[in-house]
Order: sequence, then structure tokens, then C-alpha cells
Amino acid sequence: HSHSPVIGRFAPSPTGPLHFGTLVAAVASYLQARRTGGRWLVRIEDLDPPRVVAGSAAALLLLLEELGFEWDGPVVYQSTRFERYQSILEELRYRQLVFDCGCSRREILASAPHPGEEGPIYPGTCRHGVRGSRRERSVRLRVEDRDIHFVDGIQKEQRQNLEREVGDFVLYRADGVFAYQLAVVIDDMDAGVTHVVRGADLLFSTPRQIRLYHCLGAEPPAYFHHPLVLGADGQKLSKRDGDYTLINQVNGAAQLWRALAFLGQTPPPELLDATPHEVLGWGLANFSISRVGRENRPLEL
Ligand code: GLU
Repeated sequence: HSHSPVIGRFAPSPTGPLHFGTLVAAVASYLQARRTGGRWLVRIEDLDPPRVVAGSAAALLLLLEELGFEWDGPVVYQSTRFERYQSILEELRYRQLVFDCGCSRREILASAPHPGEEGPIYPGTCRHGVRGSRRERSVRLRVEDRDIHFVDGIQKEQRQNLEREVGDFVLYRADGVFAYQLAVVIDDMDAGVTHVVRGADLLFSTPRQIRLYHCLGAEPPAYFHHPLVLGADGQKLSKRDGDYTLINQVNGAAQLWRALAFLGQTPPPELLDATPHEVLGWGLANFSISRVGRENRPLEL
């Protein structure tokens, strides 16, 4: 990649107001791209209609703008790209890399000998056809019994055997929704994304995404998984954690400052009272991805 320009991206799901955990992903991806002279794209992941909160994408984009983020090119909405996802799915089917699956979640749970990290490991039941009177429900990608290895820019060496740790995974869900794993790879590939900077909750998904890149004959991007902000309960920060995690124009500078500090950077204290643009400007001049730590941790107030 040495001569190709860096293309980063921020890919929020429009499921509510911008909160601190999402701001951290925005700051990290933005500054990583800009500090290396790269482009930064924004994509709204409105793949799953029932989860989309009306108006939240527009509110999020407006807030990003008010905080001083500048993205390149038009914002991409996943909801406009279903035909593209469908055509890739057909290509994978033609190449016999995917198969229809008739298993319900309950059946998989009953037949899966191992509980996986993210649900039961699919035991390959429908690999050679949906048996009996069951109907086709979802479409799965075949995986292989070998390690997928990559070096994350923050979390370092990663290794996962998809067959043993995940199983053949869903690309098209039983409820008629394209799976996140499929959409994210097609979108990043089509946009030429070279650097994916996002939360460590997606580290476990990354080998599946690398498998998809390989199936599509494309080179995976470099990955950087920043640590997660934990709430009071020790879980990933969420809406339960209340208003202090919500970002607005008034608290924007302080929240950007805290996001930088969370990412291991050392913004000067006097910037706490500056404007959001000034805080981001400090990041543009000083951010270094190599200072980002690995450990998930709570927000220090
Ligand atoms: N839409 C996902 C989220 O908001 C992020 C997906 C990604 O960065 O790959 O958690």
C-alpha cells in the first residue's frame, strides 16, 4: 500500500443520539486519517430498518459538523445499497461460497456442542442442502478450518479459526435483512477504505470480514480497534449510562477533550474551555495512534 493514499471512515448506526463511545470512534478514525494526509468518509449504517431511530442520522451529521469534523464526498447510506449487496450475494452463490440455511436459532443452540463467544458455533447442518420439509431462512458463508491471522494496529497479534470459533456465518438474515458483516465489507471495499479505526467490540468480527475480502478477491484494510469506554456497570457504555455521555454543542469541546484523553493523548487543560474546533485542531496537530492504549476502561469524570 505504500503509495496509496489513506482512506479512513466513520460508520455510525443511526439508533439514537451521539454518545461518548461513538464520539471516541469518530475522533480516532478522523484524526488517524487526517494526520496521515488521508481522506475520511462517513457512512450511515441504516441496514436494519426496525433499529433505525427517525431523525437520528440527520442529528448526528449536524452535530459532527458543529464539532468541526469535515468529511470527504457524500455521506453513504446503507439503505440505498441493497441491490449491490444482493448482486454480491448472487456472485458468492454462483461460486458456491454460500448456502441456504434452514436452521432456526433454537435448532442451532440444540445442536451446537460449543457456545461461541457471540452465540453458538454453527455446526454446518445445511452445508449440503436444507433437509426435510424445512424452508430456507438465511444465507451463510462457508468458512474454513484454518487460522485467520492479522496484526491490529492497536490490539496487536490476532488469530481466529472461523470454523472452530464462529462457524459458517450469516450474510442474509432470516428476517430479510442483509447482515452487517456483508454490508460493511462491500461498503468499505467499494469506497477503497484502507484504514478501519473502530471500537474493540468489533475485533471478534474482523476475521469474518477478512474472510469475505478474500472471497471477493480484495485486500483487507489495516485495522485499529480502540478500547471501549465502559459504563458504571463495567459493560460497554450505552444509553443506560445517562445524559452525561451525550454530546451536544455546549459540552462539545469538553467531550472532545475527554475523548482525546481516553485515547491516550494529552490535550492541554486550558483547551477544556476552548471551542470544539480548537480542540479538534489540537488533535489534527498532535494526535498519534501509537499512544492509544489497549485496555477497555471506564470514563473518568
Ligand atoms: N455501525 C457500527 C457501529 O456503530 C460500526 C461498524 C464498523 O465500524 O465497522 O457500531
